[in-house]
Amino acid sequence: MEPIKATFLGTSGSVPQKDKNFSSIIISFRGETMLFDCPEGTQRQLMQSEHSLMNINKVFISHMHADHFLGLFGWISTMTLNQRREKLTIFSPKGGKEKIQKIIKEVIYPSFPIEFIELKKGVIEKNDFFEVKALPLKHEIPCYGFVFKENDKIGEFDREKAIKLGIPIGPFFAKLVRGEKIKINGKTFTQKDVMNYKKKREGRKIAIIADTLPLKQVIEESKKADLLIHEATFLDKQKEKANEAMHSTALDAAIIAKKAKVKKLALFHFSARNTNTEEILEEAKKQFSNTIIPNELETITI
Ligand SMILES: [Zn+2]
Ligand SMILES: [Zn+2]
Repeated sequence: MEPIKATFLGTSGSVPQKDKNFSSIIISFRGETMLFDCPEGTQRQLMQSEHSLMNINKVFISHMHADHFLGLFGWISTMTLNQRREKLTIFSPKGGKEKIQKIIKEVIYPSFPIEFIELKKGVIEKNDFFEVKALPLKHEIPCYGFVFKENDKIGEFDREKAIKLGIPIGPFFAKLVRGEKIKINGKTFTQKDVMNYKKKREGRKIAIIADTLPLKQVIEESKKADLLIHEATFLDKQKEKANEAMHSTALDAAIIAKKAKVKKLALFHFSARNTNTEEILEEAKKQFSNTIIPNELETITI
């Protein structure tokens, strides 16, 4: 199975901490490297990661609070100095395009095209291998969570069987897998002739939930996810503050993980008041034992 990797470029929220950068995540799968939020400091974190800052073609901005997008400008500027030519696509909530474009146009003059896509509820990105869904959250301003999902596997292509049937090795194989009919020497073949359906498997899933009050829809959308990455800006003893600033606590995130029956919970976006990560972890583990607090630049492979 091709690995899906989630790399944490940082885990702090609102302001950076001495030992923590702002929260931002890379997901890489099948040659595609995608960035989820681009706060200040992202490009330096990228330089220290296994990913090249030039190789990202899609960026998903959850919302237009400064701690989630200010890193775009420095990064785009560096890529311009490095003479990037490939298109960059930036997904952002309504109004994000205008704000981001203003600075880019007036200050940076990028060397490459930038496409803007407005976030809407539902599937926003899709290819042969996976899809990315946007999910409206509940925060001070419009904010979106993201669900990365590998396509379900309907079965496994039985190569031996196809060869035995006399189908020539080559593009016919891919056509059959896609569900197309083919004709060889007057004989018609379909997917079911060459597919071992016993080897079907549900696609792996990662949910990335940035700034929000705890939300029922997150439970539904992250059902049985392999990895739920959820903000935990505050602790339960700061619940009042969390409600006021429209954030979640570590306990909230753990309850969501438990209800959604996810396999693993990773917490991020910590307030600078909560520097004791042990305390955060302990609170979450009371409800959901497979909780982790990722280290800077840590990669989780699923
Ligand atoms: Zn934030
Ligand atoms: Zn925010």
